[in-house]
Amino acid sequence: MYSKRFEKEAFKEEVKNNIKNLYRKTIEEATGRQIFQAVSLAVKETIIDYWLATQAEMEKEDPKTVYYMSMEFLMGRALGNNLINMTAYKEVKEALDEMGIDLNAVEDEEPDPALGNGGLGRLAACFLDSLATLGYPAYGCGIRYRYGMFKQKIENGYQVEVPDNWLKDGNPFEIRRDEYAKEVRFGGDVRIEYDPVTKRNNFIQENYSSVLAVPYDMPIIGYGNHVVNTLRIWDAEAITDFHLDAFNRGDYRHAVEQENLAKMIVDVLYPCDDHYAGKELRLKQQYFFISASLQALLVRYKKKHDDVRKLHEKVTIQMNDTHPTLAVAELMHLLIDQEGLEWDEAWDVTTKTVAYTNHTIMAEALEKWPVDLFSRLLPRIYQIIQEIDRRFIEQVRSRYPGDEGRVARMAIIRDGQVKMAHLAIVAGYSVNGVARLHTEILKHEELKDFYDMMPEKFNNKTNGITQRRFLMHGNPLLADWVTKRIGDGWITDLSQMSRLKKYVDDPKALAEFREIKYQNKLRLAEYIKKYNGIEVDPRSIFDVQVKRLHEYKRQFLNILHVMYLYNQIKDHPEMYFYPRTFIFGAKAAAGYVRAKETIKLINSVADVINNDKSINGKIKVVFIEDYRVSNAEIIFAAADVSEQISTASKEASGTGNMKFMLNGAPTLGTMDGANVEIVEEVGIENAFIFGLSSDEVINFENNGGYNPADIYFNDWDIKRVVDQLIDGTYSNGDREMYRDLYDSLVNTHGQERADRYFILKDFRSYADAQKRVEEAYKDREGWAKKALMNVACCGKFSSDRTIQEYVDDIWHLDHIKVDA
Ligand SMILES: *Cc1c(COP(=O)(O)O)cnc(C)c1O
Repeated sequence: MYSKRFEKEAFKEEVKNNIKNLYRKTIEEATGRQIFQAVSLAVKETIIDYWLATQAEMEKEDPKTVYYMSMEFLMGRALGNNLINMTAYKEVKEALDEMGIDLNAVEDEEPDPALGNGGLGRLAACFLDSLATLGYPAYGCGIRYRYGMFKQKIENGYQVEVPDNWLKDGNPFEIRRDEYAKEVRFGGDVRIEYDPVTKRNNFIQENYSSVLAVPYDMPIIGYGNHVVNTLRIWDAEAITDFHLDAFNRGDYRHAVEQENLAKMIVDVLYPCDDHYAGKELRLKQQYFFISASLQALLVRYKKKHDDVRKLHEKVTIQMNDTHPTLAVAELMHLLIDQEGLEWDEAWDVTTKTVAYTNHTIMAEALEKWPVDLFSRLLPRIYQIIQEIDRRFIEQVRSRYPGDEGRVARMAIIRDGQVKMAHLAIVAGYSVNGVARLHTEILKHEELKDFYDMMPEKFNNKTNGITQRRFLMHGNPLLADWVTKRIGDGWITDLSQMSRLKKYVDDPKALAEFREIKYQNKLRLAEYIKKYNGIEVDPRSIFDVQVKRLHEYKRQFLNILHVMYLYNQIKDHPEMYFYPRTFIFGAKAAAGYVRAKETIKLINSVADVINNDKSINGKIKVVFIEDYRVSNAEIIFAAADVSEQISTASKEASGTGNMKFMLNGAPTLGTMDGANVEIVEEVGIENAFIFGLSSDEVINFENNGGYNPADIYFNDWDIKRVVDQLIDGTYSNGDREMYRDLYDSLVNTHGQERADRYFILKDFRSYADAQKRVEEAYKDREGWAKKALMNVACCGKFSSDRTIQEYVDDIWHLDHIKVDA
């Protein structure tokens, strides 16, 4: 299948045979979904050979391997991406064409595996792509949720969540691995038994419930190098009676409980992004996949090595946020209770093996489990964490005698809660933030106590994205143009994009570049026509904000500004105004009321403005339903303006910002997260920056906030849009519909300050930046230069660069090489 060995006729035969054998049909009779299955299975045939070859190579070379532990992998569709990385996309497209099959249509039949919420899950997916492409041995470890991220429908302007039954027709790329199934135990109690021979206490968990964890492996294909790594996601099954210990056999109630536990545990991904909900089932999910992954990892290690005290020489474990932090205690448990190591030996191995990535500083996202829940569900794990905490507090006291305030702030267990971030930092050999600004805030604000005590652990790894999916696959017109201009080295070395700089003064190149953006805007306009029934003008400015809906991301600021522009146009119909299409896409967590109100507001504003004939279509507002990886690719390619307008200090990095940059959309944003580094790379003259700095925001926060009334009562335009939330303008006269949003801006509620996210404070500055966007866009060639400079300067933001830094500074992996 790799281009030089691709046998077109054999592939076509394979597809035909698959349709015949699977469905007893001819190609003409098969449904789109059936053709997708048949094509994918034909592709998998070739993948398997390289997958086996990679495994054989790892068997032979025994390289150091990273296990990337993550509750989420937002993979997106596999077929197109696999073909690209196999360098067989064009050939397969041709072969299918000859059979009368359109590859694009086949790709559209694939359900979008959405085992993630947003940025964090997509980062994990980009990292796996880069690891394989750079030739590093890696396993992704996660959960095979039966229902991934919900599908979003917009009904009457409101978000409605529909279950995502992504496995309904089977997943052609996965392989079930029964032989690696593992038992995972919950609850019960721990009996301590003294062993006079070893002179040790043994800790024996009894009266527990357990489930069987069964792994499914998915291939992760490196670009053009024949390396195929593995994403291993765990399903849960009931343990049959046969496996139960004697005590439990014949206990019907217990058997039913176990059956239910197995059904529930991998049922659904929690749709809360950057928000901790404290649900018992979530903790069970975490332990489930961590315990299964670590058990399997140890079995694999011990096949070749007899001394687990050297585990860290061959294995490193990266914890994507605190969700996998139970790995610390589970590894201790396995090393002590199963492998017979002493505490100090086990601690030495563990603290050389696990590393932690922090993804947020927002208090509401920090995981803190109630001690009673935790100790009931994971009694042995809790004992281990108590002992880790006891020893750590001893260290803090000896380092800072008499400073009990510090002890209280740093403890792992405190006030009836287990603080997962503290556990991750205490045990991890590396603690990293995800953009330079974020890491600095961690070191000097949120995690200051830990940084003071162990500065050597802290480091930054600015996030990145894979250009294979977000340019090559998502924007083939631009990808081909770039290759025509600078060759195809950028596919595995994005820094080569800088060679495009020589074309910013080449009128012919700029014209071609502009035409490509226009074609991509036509493609998105067709998508919008099809799914929203709205006509948008592809010559208008496509101003795009797509990301999870969060107050800190400030979609609210964006839509208030749209309301403000609409007022201006109504007041001054003669005023010059460059036509704009404001495009939104965002899912809100199902229980996040204010986020859902914001979605309704955006849709209401869209309704009013899009249907007001008097403004001659100067503004259109579009809310794209069900924002996900597959439509994201189309949206980035078509964007003119990238809205990255989070309250400074709140967005740890952002990766959407990088995808827009790669596709030639200048950033309209605050100096937050990776925006800071984007501006550094592209130059401030090629971005539109506004708003409070993170220092200013943090200063206000440390001093009781600011008073939005000063703005509300003194800026007439602002007061007008804010009042329009409660005068019925966008709610058919209903004055209550947006009362809560109104209140959030101007009234303090108990603990919550008015305008916590500095929307009114930043409004004028944002409106000014939007004015600068309009001015700049009027100069068509000037705009194309800015857009092209963004493409030319995006090299740093490849996840290949990020992964190389993880390897050099944290993981120290060995390379693998697979011959074709
Ligand atoms: C990249 C991406 C995100 C993250 O976007 P941010 O703007 O960084 O929050 C979320 N969802 C999808 C589908 C993505 O592709």
